[in-house]
Amino acid sequence: MKPIESLRISRITKIQYLRFAMKVFSSILLLMISALQLIAQDRTYAIKTIEELCSQKYFGRGYVKGGLDKSRDFILQELKRWKVSPMSSSGFLQQFSFPVNTFPGEMSLELDGAKLRPGIDFIVSPESTGLKASGVLTMKDSSHYVDAANRLQISYLKKLTWSVAVQESDYTAILVDQNLLSNKAENYRVTVENKFIDNFKASNICGVIKGRKKPDSLILITAHYDHLGGMGSKVYFPGANDNGSGISLLLNLAKHYSLNAPDYSIGFICFAGEEAGLLGSRHFSENPLVDLKKVRFLINLDLTGTGEEGATVVNASVFKSEFEILDNINRDKNYLSKITARGKAANSDHYWFSEKGIPSFFIYTNGGIKAYHDVYDIPKTLPLTEFDDLFRLIVAFNENIMKSSKR
Ligand SMILES: [Zn+2]
Repeated sequence: MKPIESLRISRITKIQYLRFAMKVFSSILLLMISALQLIAQDRTYAIKTIEELCSQKYFGRGYVKGGLDKSRDFILQELKRWKVSPMSSSGFLQQFSFPVNTFPGEMSLELDGAKLRPGIDFIVSPESTGLKASGVLTMKDSSHYVDAANRLQISYLKKLTWSVAVQESDYTAILVDQNLLSNKAENYRVTVENKFIDNFKASNICGVIKGRKKPDSLILITAHYDHLGGMGSKVYFPGANDNGSGISLLLNLAKHYSLNAPDYSIGFICFAGEEAGLLGSRHFSENPLVDLKKVRFLINLDLTGTGEEGATVVNASVFKSEFEILDNINRDKNYLSKITARGKAANSDHYWFSEKGIPSFFIYTNGGIKAYHDVYDIPKTLPLTEFDDLFRLIVAFNENIMKSSKR
């Protein structure tokens, strides 16, 4: 009996030992993987997110082909994936509405028989009314042509920059690449189909990761997810830098804080209606889903996909002590080549919050590409030069704020 017994025991022990060793090994491996996740943000995820947001199915995250709502659903799915909870008891979405002039249909222009390419050779001024006409243009000056009878104006410009209008005018204005300028009156044929929507429904996406130590204190990370949408049924504005980059950075921060529970609660707000006049952020600031007095700091991310020439911080001279913290961390750790301090500016979604006295920065990167509000703002040419460093800077800054703050 005994020898057999002991043989059995030693066999069991060996198996148990092997199992134990495997367990130890796999936990070490897991620890190593999560340690890596602590340090580095997921660049592959960042790029994938920007590519997704700029893909054709979202059609420029605007007012044509349901693009804005489709991109909303994608972002919502990602926030849920990182275990972000809804900010309000009624869910993640905060709906609001606004009027907007849209161009869902045909968009064509011929000058002297030559077909111009929408988005590349010409854009329609966003407040334009629709027009289907042909005729002869009269020269007003060297870069402006009109057909008064059809209330059509054609202007030649060096850079075509599109935007969103919340009103419809009684004329049709078209901006043409000045390389196509010829100095004679021209025959034209134009079709612009517009649709003015009185009450376009959009939603801010609002989530939160609860803090461990002071869940009532808040840091807000914000970025707008809307862009310009489509101009006609074929051309859309991808908006990789503006603001696929900011949303991607926000989602990476959500992922980071889901793996590394923060001391304060971190709120994530993806605004709609920014390009139509900072409308989503205004709506949130007037109808906040959190107690704004508990917000220790707000960081708004918009145009964060470059960085060759560092970054600019709007409100740096308004919230001086926080800027000093940010700038010191950056110098210490050698993240961005330089941080330019700027004063107050109503140029992105932070604006309404700092107007209400909430400490806020708007951070954007500089250099790299010239594309802005045009069809060339695409993922392929977005350099993401300081994307990783900016991520690290924000994490370190938040860490400092959460440790030092009395609020
Ligand atoms: Zn923007």
